[in-house]
Amino acid sequence: MTATVTDQDVLESRSPATGELLATYPVDDATAVQAAVERAREAAGWWRDLGFDGRKSRLQAWKHTLVRRIDELAGLMHDETGKPLDDARLEAVVAIDHLGWAAKHAAKVLGPRRVPSGLIGINLAASVEYQPVGVVGVIGPWNYPILTPMGSIAYALAAGNSVVFKPSEHSPGVGVWLADTFAEAVPELPVFQVVTGFGATGAALCQAGVGKLGFTGSTATAKKVMAACAETLTPVLIEAGGKDAAIVAADADLDVAADAITFGAMGNAGQTCVGIERAYVESAVFDSFVEKVKVIAEGIQIGTDEQLGPITMPSQVPIIQRHIEDALANGGRAVVGGPESVRAPYVHPVVLVDVPEDSEAVREETFGPTLTITRVDSLDEAVRLANGGKYGLGSAIFSRSRKTAMDVARRLRTGMTSINGVQSFAMVPSLPFGGTGDSGFGRIHGPDGLKEFTRPKAVTRHRFKAPTRPLTFTRTTKDVVNTLKLLRILHGKG
Ligand code: NDP
Repeated sequence: MTATVTDQDVLESRSPATGELLATYPVDDATAVQAAVERAREAAGWWRDLGFDGRKSRLQAWKHTLVRRIDELAGLMHDETGKPLDDARLEAVVAIDHLGWAAKHAAKVLGPRRVPSGLIGINLAASVEYQPVGVVGVIGPWNYPILTPMGSIAYALAAGNSVVFKPSEHSPGVGVWLADTFAEAVPELPVFQVVTGFGATGAALCQAGVGKLGFTGSTATAKKVMAACAETLTPVLIEAGGKDAAIVAADADLDVAADAITFGAMGNAGQTCVGIERAYVESAVFDSFVEKVKVIAEGIQIGTDEQLGPITMPSQVPIIQRHIEDALANGGRAVVGGPESVRAPYVHPVVLVDVPEDSEAVREETFGPTLTITRVDSLDEAVRLANGGKYGLGSAIFSRSRKTAMDVARRLRTGMTSINGVQSFAMVPSLPFGGTGDSGFGRIHGPDGLKEFTRPKAVTRHRFKAPTRPLTFTRTTKDVVNTLKLLRILHGKG
């Protein structure tokens, strides 16, 4: 959607492809956001007290609604972001799968469990459980308007929190639709609400006293969010930008690599946090790899109902243009497209080679259907260059050798790596998703994603009178001597 402000209270939602007015939404100010958080606080206790089973059945009811109405949801995503309908459907499939996983596994991951108390604490029974933080604020981007926020929303809800969600100004309709369908499954209290508006609405959510703030968006906004949250010591989860690299080893299946990497770079018009923006290819297969990518990229169909839709956010178009021009001005060569590929609101595929490592096209997030391909002499060089930037979100390695691929995957300084494919880690609900460096910290998805929206609660129960009583004023010197003896037995040897 292209968002415009007509007056202070209205957010106009327009198709990025045609400019058609889709709907209008309120611009929620700080008072409205605060009121939503207060309502969420009241709902949070009831939702927590439903317990894991009560929440699971309600989340599953919501999941069934989403499955039933998936075409409606995908249509809305298509209208607002311009992404191809099938991409929207597939995104919804993965998001719904995550919702199902979170609902099903929350009890096992977060519920109370006994832990060994050790010999020094032999008289103690020790247990840990993960309690909800209360209200979770979620701020989301527009590029994957259901998958990325669902990574926080579903997991926070399954963990027993209520949620106030601020969707991007470019995809408010998807956010409102999600909250409306949730309310059909859980009509009792406003456990999941949406506030709409621009950046100021998000900023108000950061200052509204939520128990945790889950942010997904650009690194620049992430810094503002952290600064705002610092004022109230509100903990934050940051899922920020990326500049993912793919490495192609000389022994890779080049057809598989070219197919996957071209999709990783151009899919969703390149507007993917874990989009492949750089490829490092071993010298022996460089030319054939470039040729295969060229053929695939040149065959991509562009248009509203085609494989590659418009650039959702008009302000991104000049950034993409600048990266292409900068790369070419600094010695890069375009093997597919060039500056003329930028035809707003569309950007046609651009593949660049020989681009210097210090240029913007290699170092900064482009967020368009572009790919740089760089020749390397060894996998060591590929890993060094891939790890060279400030981001560390996802990555990919293509090799027929499982050992080589695993070795490279472990050495890549990113939160996730896929082998012989791209972005597949996002489809596995039991895997954590998140980055390092300028890509942020904390994790959505999987057991880590559930724990992210909780605080651990440790409990010790004194089962019987201890042989020594170290934490009393009645302890004797002998108690201390006996404890020291135990220490020497346990840890003093070797
Ligand atoms: P932005 O950072 O522009 O916006 C993200 C969200 O923050 C939006 O809802 C935005 O509202 C809101 N916001 C803006 N200003 C503030 C503020 N001062 N305080 C609080 N909230 C604010 O990112 P985009 O929406 O453009 O999304 C693209 C970015 O997201 C890319 O960098 C991409 O890599 C990243 N991303 C990261 C993912 C990950 O998992 N790591 C996944 C998907 C995307 P509004 O839109 O109304 O301005």
